[in-house]
Parts: sequence; C-alpha cells; structure tokens
Amino acid sequence: MRLVVQVRLRPMPEQAASLEATLRACNDAANFASVTAFTTGDRREYALRKHTYREVRARGLGAQAAQHVIKKVADAYTTLKANIRAGNLGPEGSRRRARAESKPIAFRADAAQPFDDRCLSWDHTAHTVSIWTTAGRLKNVAFVGSADQLKMLALYRKGESDLVCRDGRWFLYATCEIPDVPVTEPDGFIGVDLGIANIATTSDGACHCGKGLNAVRHRNRELRRRLQAKATRSAKRLLKKRRRKEARFAADTNHRIAKRIVTEAERTGRGIALEDLGGIRDRVRLRKPQRVTLHSWSFHQLGSFIAYKAARHGVAVVHVDPAYTSQTCSACGHVDKANRPGQATFCCTSCGFAEHADVNAARNIASRGVAGWAVSHAADDAA
Ligand SMILES: [Zn+2]
Repeated sequence: MRLVVQVRLRPMPEQAASLEATLRACNDAANFASVTAFTTGDRREYALRKHTYREVRARGLGAQAAQHVIKKVADAYTTLKANIRAGNLGPEGSRRRARAESKPIAFRADAAQPFDDRCLSWDHTAHTVSIWTTAGRLKNVAFVGSADQLKMLALYRKGESDLVCRDGRWFLYATCEIPDVPVTEPDGFIGVDLGIANIATTSDGACHCGKGLNAVRHRNRELRRRLQAKATRSAKRLLKKRRRKEARFAADTNHRIAKRIVTEAERTGRGIALEDLGGIRDRVRLRKPQRVTLHSWSFHQLGSFIAYKAARHGVAVVHVDPAYTSQTCSACGHVDKANRPGQATFCCTSCGFAEHADVNAARNIASRGVAGWAVSHAADDAA
C-alpha cells in the first residue's frame, strides 16, 4: 500500500528564506517551461526537456531539480488533458474549459516541488533533513510529526517527497510503501452509515456526529457570505485561509472517526461494510446540490481513511450498494418509504421495529457486507 505522510518542517528563519527562494525559482522555471509547452505544443516530458532543459539549468537549478520541474509541467498538462476528457471542466465550449485551454498552466510561486533522494536526505534519529536549495545544500532542517508518522517514515519512506508551503508553514509530503498485512477472515461486519448531520453511524449504535465540524462549517458559511459581499483582496485571503483551516479540521475529525471504527472492528474480529462511494456522491447530489461541494469530498476522505487504516491492520472492508438502506427494515426486510417518518426516526410499518434511522441503515449495510463478503469469498474459493 502506498501512503503519503505529511511532516512539518521547522526551518530557522534563514533556512526558510532559502526554501522560499528555491520554491520560487523552481516555479518561475516551471512557468517558463509551461509557456514553452503551450506555444510549441510539445507537452510530453522528453520533448519538453529538449526545448527547456538548458534554460531551466541556467536559472540556477541543479540537474535533478531541473528534471523534476520539467516533469512537473508535463504531468500538469497530462492531468489537465485527463480532466478535460473526463468532463471535469464542463462540456466542450463551456467558459471554464475554454479558459483552461486558452493559456499556459500557471504555477504559483509557492506551488509544491518534488525532491528525490539525491536532493533530500532524512535523518530519522536527529529528526532533520538535508535538502538542496538554490543557495546550496541546507543541513539540519528540523521536522516534526506524530510518533506514528515518524515511525512510518523511518520504516517505509521511499521515493520522492513534495516540498510544500502553506500559509507560511513548511511541510514535506513523503511517500511510504507499506507492506500488505494479510486480511483476517471476519467474524461478522460493522456497518457504517455516512451522513451529513451524523458523519458516521455504526450498526452497533455508535454515532460519530462531528458536532464540532458542523459548527465550524456553519460558522464559516456565515463568514463567507459576509466576506464575499466585500470582495476585497484581504477578504479573499482570509476566506482562503478559513477554507484551509476548515479542511484541516475536517481531515482531523475524519482521521479520528476512522481510527475509532477500525480499532473497534479489529478488537471484535469483524470486518467493515461501507456504502459504495459512488453511490454516496450521487445520493448527496440528488438531495441538495450545494452540499456536494461542501461534503462529498469529506465522505470520500472518511471512506479512504477507513480503507487504509483497515488495510494496515488486516481488517476486511467491503463496499455495498447503499440503495434503499434508509427505507429498509433491518429486522424484517420490509421496504417502504413510510418506514421513515422523519429524518432521525425509523419505524417499520410491517413489523413495528423502531430504531434511530441511521443505526437502522447501518445495520442494513452490515448485513449487505456479510452477503457481499460471502459472494466474493465464494468466488475466491472457486478460483
Ligand atoms: Zn420490519
């Protein structure tokens, strides 16, 4: 399993200045290469290198950094092309798409830059890195992270890391290759229902309601409304900062929820049944369009946090079709819209079974998980 571990760098002021100058030089060079790619039409790495390598080197970048810059530009065009093809920028002729196609891709002065092992080395005892900069090699740049992160880095870090500056804070995003843990045969499943009011509810009745998160979102939405009316530069900057802070808070909440669910599954020897993520997106979109942007990425993030934490502990995960899980009675299987008289309540019109609506849905997801596992396992046995 491949995982990205984020650690925060704690550069001294003069080290930070060198890092900043380096990122700026790399991204200036990237913008030069991007314009070349745009005007010549040569957007593949090899062709682009022929056009730009010498000039990029002349801008004070080392051989490794120059190649990474050119590859970054080529990759950005590949991603743009894929996004256009997937319709992510709207249909042909849409304004957004036309705008994206009409000019070279631009890199911010502080856009992320990849570093390989020749440009960046790690000391896991001293918790420092040594990193190439345009001002020479910077030694003893301190980094900090959680005990878990540091352990993972020391054991499994491999390949490139991205240097990132966000809101004046420095980070390295390091790739780790984690060996697969064999999946334990599950003895039953915990079903997880994802929602907006309650972020995650399990079939055991545990509700991870994310009260704090919804409060932060609500507060930020209000603030956004006020600031957007202003539309000044500083208002925009503040908005951006708030959005990032909200995203960090949401990620932190999702991490904690995922950890609790996976720990409980491992402790009880069960697997985890999740709604199929595609289904979540569609369902949310149907309900309320403006909520999609706000929440669908958060559902996906929670799903992926659960999936990778489970994989690390050998806990089985199955994704199930979430259709009608909220209208189906988890006691007798009766499906009826009227089973769900209110947002929070479930009461079966056939057998009278009553439960919190999200717990009932989670129980349905759990039993679909059992069935899904049996089916995929039967296929394994046959093979
Ligand atoms: Zn029933």
